[in-house]
Amino acid sequence: ATSGPAAPAPPRVLTVAGSDSGGGAGIQADLKTMLALGVHGMSVVTAVTAQNSTGVHGAWELPEAAVRAQYRAVVDDIGVQAVKTGMLASATLVETVAELLATTAAPAVVDPVGVSKHGDALLAATALDAVRTRLLPAATVVTPNLDEVAQLTGLTVENEDGMRRAAGAILAYGPRWALVKGGHLAAHGGRAADLLTDGTEEHWLRAPRYGNRHTHGTGCTLASALACGLAQGLTVPDAARAAKAYVTGAIAAGFALGAGIGPVDHGW
Ligand code: PLP
Repeated sequence: ATSGPAAPAPPRVLTVAGSDSGGGAGIQADLKTMLALGVHGMSVVTAVTAQNSTGVHGAWELPEAAVRAQYRAVVDDIGVQAVKTGMLASATLVETVAELLATTAAPAVVDPVGVSKHGDALLAATALDAVRTRLLPAATVVTPNLDEVAQLTGLTVENEDGMRRAAGAILAYGPRWALVKGGHLAAHGGRAADLLTDGTEEHWLRAPRYGNRHTHGTGCTLASALACGLAQGLTVPDAARAAKAYVTGAIAAGFALGAGIGPVDHGW
């Protein structure tokens, strides 16, 4: 390239999450989503997983100091217009990240990652209390699926009324908005609707449901797309609708890879 005026900087979005060596979920899904949606993506790695289409084969949490140093390096120099959090592994890292978020004015999308689709634990059971009392109050939007709702609130959701009660229980922990994802209901014969609410407004996000089994990285992708929309200046409901549309396309285009569950396609 020849020299000339610098191009205007795109919005900057930070993901605080775990690495998926298979490239389908976690940090890798987040950065691909950010590239596809036209923002500058940055990452604070909280844990490294040895992972592929058949599951998580090992996971190593990073030291608290490494998480703090990455966060401060990025936020204090480059700045962020939105933050997304994913796999935080332990109570120590949950508390650290909650404290770091409180130092940042940008909106925070918290994906309360608990267990992978293969059933691998991505969060220690001893960290649930810190998620409820420290992380959720720091969230602009929290995006639990129904398994995470059950873990965090003890509620078993069986229909859309149950999703309303679940959202209320999540909001009681202090996030501004709850986006309760109903996809796991749909798998049992219901519809693929997600409920976004701040306790006053209620928005049902509905999308066609695809039979595609290659859905690895769905939750990471939705939360990242939502953070991108917020960084681009959308309201929470508009960013959630745009994120739902993006992840629906990514699921429709998900492809087989390896012997197990393939990834959603970020570049569809
Ligand atoms: N690995 C990492 C590092 C993640 O953050 C997540 C989800 O948030 C997963 C794996 C699980 O992905 P999935 O449940 O879509 O297979």
